[in-house]
Amino acid sequence: MSTSSLDAYWMPFTANRLFKKAPRMLARAEGMYYRTPEGREVLDGVAGLWCVNAGHGRPKIVKAIAEQAAEMDFAPPFQMGHPKAFELADRLVEIAPKGLNKVFYTNSGSEAVETALKIALAYHRARGEGSRTRLIGRERGYHGVNFGGISVGGIVANRKMFGTLLTGVDHIRHTHDPARNSFSVGQPAHGADLADDLERLVALHDASTIAAVIVEPVAGSTGVLLPPQGYLQRLREICDKHGILLIFDEVITGFGRTGQPFAAQTFGVTPDLMTVAKGLTNGCVPMGAVFAKQAIHDAFMNGPEHLIEFFHGYTYSAHPLACAAALATLETYADDGLLTRATDMQDHFSQALHSLKGLPHVIDIRNIGLVGGIELAARSGEPGKRAFDVFLDCWEQGLMIRTTGDTIALSPPLIIQAEHIDKIVDTLATAIKRVA
Ligand code: PMP
Repeated sequence: MSTSSLDAYWMPFTANRLFKKAPRMLARAEGMYYRTPEGREVLDGVAGLWCVNAGHGRPKIVKAIAEQAAEMDFAPPFQMGHPKAFELADRLVEIAPKGLNKVFYTNSGSEAVETALKIALAYHRARGEGSRTRLIGRERGYHGVNFGGISVGGIVANRKMFGTLLTGVDHIRHTHDPARNSFSVGQPAHGADLADDLERLVALHDASTIAAVIVEPVAGSTGVLLPPQGYLQRLREICDKHGILLIFDEVITGFGRTGQPFAAQTFGVTPDLMTVAKGLTNGCVPMGAVFAKQAIHDAFMNGPEHLIEFFHGYTYSAHPLACAAALATLETYADDGLLTRATDMQDHFSQALHSLKGLPHVIDIRNIGLVGGIELAARSGEPGKRAFDVFLDCWEQGLMIRTTGDTIALSPPLIIQAEHIDKIVDTLATAIKRVA
């Protein structure tokens, strides 16, 4: 490999100066493992970045991308189509929660979020309810990094550098309640009532001003926060009562993470719009999508035919390489039964994770399917640093994890075997003890 200075590349969401003192480089990936340029194996405990659900280097996907690149590299998505874009939408609707039968393509989770928010606003306007312009997010929500997403998002670090953001946005309270729900397995017992916070915002703003509420069924990037039992049902009821659209951001939970194809199915609540990305192509080619209910789509199609019904889209919407990758990904998921495999593995995963209870500074563990969070007590004056030290120790031991604040997040490829789970947890235990 040729050498480079490390100077020119400005890395995203990274401590650039620290990284360049001790770079962590990846060069190859296969199955459950990455390899560094020196050939050292690193076990993948996070499916890359919550996305490589079928494991790395799956031959069907590699072949589909290569063949598509040779056959047709690009096709304009506006006023033109190509067969794989339509075929993929059909395949996606087959596995989606019932009723979500329209698919709009984007290139990332962030773009899927912007698209869903714009669909919600335009939908109300198309129905003559143009006063519904307010968007509601949730504290500790992560919805990507574009302006709509950080506005409805609830992470101060992602917001405070960028001014006033979108106006007319409000937030319901988050559901993290360690005092009542610590070390819970699956959905915590307490906190369905937190959904009533939406009624507070309806009372404050009036329902006639509110377009949509967006939440992650499981908040991933802020520490794997599970919805309390009954919470999502309650949110759905309140939205229905007031004509507010419910958007689930399933960028992390989509494609088998929680034990069903989508968390909406795991938790038995169907949103009006649903965003996905990541696992859609097994992380191989950037792609996102928004699923919409028929009635939402119909609102755009009513009335006289127009040259364009929805003034939105990306040059790379339905990119042929992404569609080919996604079709091969769905086949791979089906071949290996991966969209429900987390259900089979979750007992072992859960027991292994909860065996870390009692280690120094471990204050909470929470999990469902094949996603889990281990929360450490923050070092005084250094939020996030203790977990980051665990991340560095794991890297040295040959394990890739992810940290968010002082929570260690695990979301391994869904092909994981019991011995990988044991290795992840043993490595973590060593790291947590050493860092203590
Ligand atoms: N929504 C959620 C719930 C996410 O977890 C993420 C990414 N982690 C995004 C949106 C943004 O996706 P992307 O990074 O592909 O823009």
